[in-house]
Amino acid sequence: MAKRAPTGGRDGARPRSTRRRRAEPTERVVEGLGVAPGIAIGRAYLHGAAPAQIPEYTIDPDGIPAELRRFEEAVAQSLRQLEKLKAKTAALPPDVAEEVSVLLEAQGLMLQGSRLVRGVNQRIAHDRINAEAATAAETAVVAEGFAAIEDAYLAARAQEVREVGARVIRNLTATPFQSFTSLPAGSIVIAEEVTPADTALMNPDIVAGFAAVVGGAESHAAIMARAMGLPAVLGATRLLQTIRDGDFVIVDGSAGRVIANPTPQTIDAYERRQVELARVERQLARISRLPAVTKDGVAITLDANIELPRELETVRAVGADGIGLLRSEFLFMNRNDIPSEEEQFQALAAIVTGMANRPVTVRTLDIGGDKLASALGDRIAPSANPALGLRAIRLSLQQPDLLEPQLAAILRAGALGRVRLLLPMIETVDEVKEVREILARVARRLVRKGVAIADPFPPVGAMIEVPGAALSADALARVCDFFAIGTNDLTMYTLAIDRGDEQVAHLYNPLHPAVLRLIQFTTEAALRNRIPISICGEIAGDPRFTALLIGLGIRDLSMSAINLPRVKERVRAIDLSAAAVRARQIMDQSDSARISALLDGFNAEL
Ligand code: PEP
Ligand code: MG
Repeated sequence: MAKRAPTGGRDGARPRSTRRRRAEPTERVVEGLGVAPGIAIGRAYLHGAAPAQIPEYTIDPDGIPAELRRFEEAVAQSLRQLEKLKAKTAALPPDVAEEVSVLLEAQGLMLQGSRLVRGVNQRIAHDRINAEAATAAETAVVAEGFAAIEDAYLAARAQEVREVGARVIRNLTATPFQSFTSLPAGSIVIAEEVTPADTALMNPDIVAGFAAVVGGAESHAAIMARAMGLPAVLGATRLLQTIRDGDFVIVDGSAGRVIANPTPQTIDAYERRQVELARVERQLARISRLPAVTKDGVAITLDANIELPRELETVRAVGADGIGLLRSEFLFMNRNDIPSEEEQFQALAAIVTGMANRPVTVRTLDIGGDKLASALGDRIAPSANPALGLRAIRLSLQQPDLLEPQLAAILRAGALGRVRLLLPMIETVDEVKEVREILARVARRLVRKGVAIADPFPPVGAMIEVPGAALSADALARVCDFFAIGTNDLTMYTLAIDRGDEQVAHLYNPLHPAVLRLIQFTTEAALRNRIPISICGEIAGDPRFTALLIGLGIRDLSMSAINLPRVKERVRAIDLSAAAVRARQIMDQSDSARISALLDGFNAEL
């Protein structure tokens, strides 16, 4: 989709300096993964850069241990970041990869029991100065020492010392929950990493798009970017070497390309594409009042996924039948405490009433994996495999002070409209039964207090997103009122491919026969047990998959609202009986390439 007016910034003014840059022969292109389509044109804002003014203050003697700890944490964070970057070098050409990983290795060593670290500790303890000032002072001394050596190799280390110092200072000064509200409209955020919490703070009226060094297409930051219509490129390895703060840049979220200092010809070409994309969007918007019915007359329910309340407007504009997945994580992001029951209720109430009696499926907290909210930071101990760790319903069942207020808020919101309760990462029948017991207990407490709650109780459904749940679908169907298949995680767990890791992004494939068989198996179990089933993973919002999914028996697709018109257009072009025949052919295949060809062949004939 088109992002921004054709002329770039929100004020509509193409920065004059770009015209003056005509003489600059320095257009530079960085390749990455296009994770959210569209074109953004604007000025780069380097997110997480070290501050120009380093804070300097004295520490009380009793404050010294805390300051030393703060420094230690910033060093540990810096080491983790360097490890992440090192893992990425594999994607570079071999000679560059070797050079970069040697540099990163050297920077890591500078942070492990080195003179630099000892020196900073000493300055904090003896000079009683804050960690940022101590790091800046010590870095300057060590770097000068290197620079003075008459050996080109060692002298070059001075720059690495400075880089390491800047990284530590950046981590020390990082403002938690930094909003992007003070940026000029039309800014492009460039960063080493953009978290889902960062994305939640981006107002599309201010941030035109973003690019980052790490991250994959199914990461939550990417999903949120797509939902917000923010063009985004992730996994752009050379990004920070190529783009400087204030550079004029283009983010091509469709092709996965970031262009710094584009030539006037490049700008013109991209502006033409923006105009074309905007025209297509306008055309698609016209479809919102038409029904989602196949050519042979079968109605398909098209629901919306919501990550942030502000998407509600788009949900209504595209004419979604309901909300098939409300990711409640937004309530817990960018804060240091847990939202109260009342706060959660108010947020849900606004959405439920805003949907005017169309169903709203509220998913309980799905935190963990790449969705770490700082409010919960110390509730989840670091894990070697966070995606396999304390996540989603496992966390909620372990920590009743998280689950109970959330269930209470959902029950109360259910008094205002049609609410369904969805449980993430369900694996066993017992988990569902346990939630039902807690739900009944919470309801009794509310009723005793005279609080209005949903009557009857909201239907309770399970996300089917781990292979174990899909293979137990028959048993789960007997304790659940509905299923929602989460193909993002189902693909990740079935194929053992981290959905957020760009290094294995090329292997992430929902068309793998194993994933399709699990979808089919789950769908058939739901139909046999006569419970509703939907798909709410990203493939539900991609028209490429529509014929296959409805051909497999799915009649309810839930997606980012922004994708709904495209999927509806596709539904209206499909003959369901032909799609069912093609789905059967596809399910006979054992090879993903053949499956892709059969699916794309079918789509091409529409
Ligand atoms: C999924 O896993 O497919 C899903 C919809 O949930 P999430 O992307 O929030 O993990
Ligand atoms: Mg999931």
